[in-house]
Amino acid sequence: MGGASVTANGGIQVDLGQTRYVLDPHSHVRADYTFVSHAHIDHMHNPAKGERIIASSATKELAKARGYDLGTTIEEAEGVELLDSGHILGSRAIRIGDEVYYTGDASGRTRAFLGKCRTRQARVLVMETTYGSPEYVFPPTAKLVKEVNSLISSAYDRGVPVVLMGYPLGKAQLLSYFFSSWDPIIYHERVATMNKIHVDHGVPLKPGRTFDPEKDRDSLPHGPWVMISPMSSGRSRLMAHLKKEYGAILVAFSGWALGSGYGHTMGADYSFPLSDHCDYDELVKLVQAVSPEMVYTVHGFAAEFARDLRKMGFSARPLAAYQSSLTDYVRV
Ligand SMILES: [Zn+2]
Repeated sequence: MGGASVTANGGIQVDLGQTRYVLDPHSHVRADYTFVSHAHIDHMHNPAKGERIIASSATKELAKARGYDLGTTIEEAEGVELLDSGHILGSRAIRIGDEVYYTGDASGRTRAFLGKCRTRQARVLVMETTYGSPEYVFPPTAKLVKEVNSLISSAYDRGVPVVLMGYPLGKAQLLSYFFSSWDPIIYHERVATMNKIHVDHGVPLKPGRTFDPEKDRDSLPHGPWVMISPMSSGRSRLMAHLKKEYGAILVAFSGWALGSGYGHTMGADYSFPLSDHCDYDELVKLVQAVSPEMVYTVHGFAAEFARDLRKMGFSARPLAAYQSSLTDYVRV
């Protein structure tokens, strides 16, 4: 049997022997197996009838809550191994034979109830490189949590509420977990929906009041509270209202917060680089652990990271036709 070939074809297409796999396609692609790594919208598609989908049961459930019915999914197939990628609940990397290891979206560090990406050796590595530029090295999570707790503490001293914003799936549950000691805690309804599925999967998230942005915007308490909310511009109607009516301060959480001007662009009062992706150093470590003959990079700094890998002696190039657009970062 010859080696696997990897191409971009509406997804990442892997041909190995007689079997075709397509990984995280944006729309239906004919294949023997389709792999859905996790339930962020930019990795999701509406499957055609009869598609054989490999995904974790948590991914299937989270996808359904977001309007994507993956149908019957399988977690095992011959010659295929799924590994925790540490990105969000249910996220998986996949290893196909000894040939191909695909990270999906991956984190390089343990955070709260999430582990870090598990790796295996493979001849070909297909990896996400969202933060594949040397300026993106994230601080220790414990340090960041401590800084945010003291920010909230000083807001409470002044009777001021705090809105913590991040992606509704993944980041918002980490925020719910890390900052659960504050009372009252209020969950935006989009966050509450995702929290519930996490609780069903055994993640200990504290119950809190659910906030319906249409009905409840004028009935929040005056005084300090913490709200966990999807990322939203400080200039959006809701956030402008929470600032004006309650004096709330807005805190944004994203790896992009390491870039200059991020907080300003988002209209946030503060921003912190809490990420569910590998930072630059973790990406390099991941490549070393997989020890591949060939690396294909996707997302973010794909070309730049491939160039850096070549300088380190690896064969690497971006899988250019499979790039996410900038709007995907906003939507997930
Ligand atoms: Zn993701």
